[in-house]
Parts: sequence; structure tokens; C-alpha cells
Amino acid sequence: MKKLEYLLPDEAATIAIGDNLAKVLHWQNEQQQAQQSLVVFLNGDLGAGKTTLTRGFVRGMGHKGNVKSPTYTLVEPYELTPWQVYHFDLYRLSDPEELEYMGIRDYFADNCCCFIEWPEKGAGLLANADIIINMVYQNEQRVIDLQACSKRGEDVLQQLALTYG
Ligand code: ADP
Ligand code: MG
Repeated sequence: MKKLEYLLPDEAATIAIGDNLAKVLHWQNEQQQAQQSLVVFLNGDLGAGKTTLTRGFVRGMGHKGNVKSPTYTLVEPYELTPWQVYHFDLYRLSDPEELEYMGIRDYFADNCCCFIEWPEKGAGLLANADIIINMVYQNEQRVIDLQACSKRGEDVLQQLALTYG
């Protein structure tokens, strides 16, 4: 299970992918099957749906309030026991050194799930991705592909694939 690809006909389908990723993590946690950290890179043009997917994930992990885009703050933290979820948007990162000042390494600890928009802006300073997601426009709809880059990523995608049959 290296790569999955789906057509996302509408916003609800994009949210559902994020929600289903959260369900996989909850399921693995119940099975006490896996280490819990996860690093996801999100690639795609402005408006492709990266934030929408992350919103589905953060809500699925148990967050009840708003999920706002961290465009200006670079990162938005969510404490969702037993996880710490971090949503990064590096679009406005002008100098990768800013990530050093933020103490970027501390964000990739155990039990941390990091979803990172515009990861190429932080090249060299981020942890390796477990899953790389690409989202592209197909007229009004979107196509998503999810690629596993580690054993951890493969385990998650394998479980995710079961949801989609
Ligand atoms: P990004 O973070 O990639 O810049 P956003 O998630 O902020 O993109 O915005 C995506 C926009 O596209 C939102 O207006 C959302 O309602 C819409 N959208 C998300 N997924 C889909 C989809 N599968 N089909 C059509 N529109 C979508
Ligand atoms: Mg965004």
C-alpha cells in the first residue's frame, strides 16, 4: 500500500478524508498497535483544499471549535489527548530560520501529529513525511493522492483504504 488516489466531488468529501485519517489514528490507538506520531505534507495550489482536509482531521481528532488557517501564525496547536496536533501553513514563511527560532524540532516528538501546508518552504528543517498528499483541481472538483513514505505511513494508508473499500 504505497499510494491511494480518490476523486473528491465536493468539500464534504475533502473533510471526510481528514476525518477518516483521524478515525484510523483512534482505531490504532485502541489497538495499541502503533506509535502515535504522524507527519503529513500537504501539496497543492491555493484553494486546492489543504486546510479543508486538515479541518476534517482536527475535528475528527476531537476538536470542537473553529479550525482557522494558520497563515499568519505559521502554526496552530490543538491539545487533543493523547495527541498533540499541529497544523502548519508555511506559505508566508520568508526565512526558514524562523522555524529554528520556533524550535521546530520539538514539534516532531512522540504523540505529535503534524499536518504541514507548503512544506517545501521549510525544506531541510522539517521531519520526514510519513504521508505526502497532493491535491489538484479537476474542474470544480478535486483529485487527491496520498503517498506513503514510511512504514508508519503505509500502516495508516492501508487502514484508510479499508474505509473506502
Ligand atoms: P488551501 O488550504 O489548499 O488553500 P482551502 O481548504 O482553504 O484550500 O480552500 C479550499 C476551497 O475549496 C474551499 O472553499 C472549499 O470549500 C473548497 N473545496 C474543498 N474541497 C473541495 C472539493 N473536493 N470540491 C470542491 N470544492 C472543494
Ligand atoms: Mg490553506
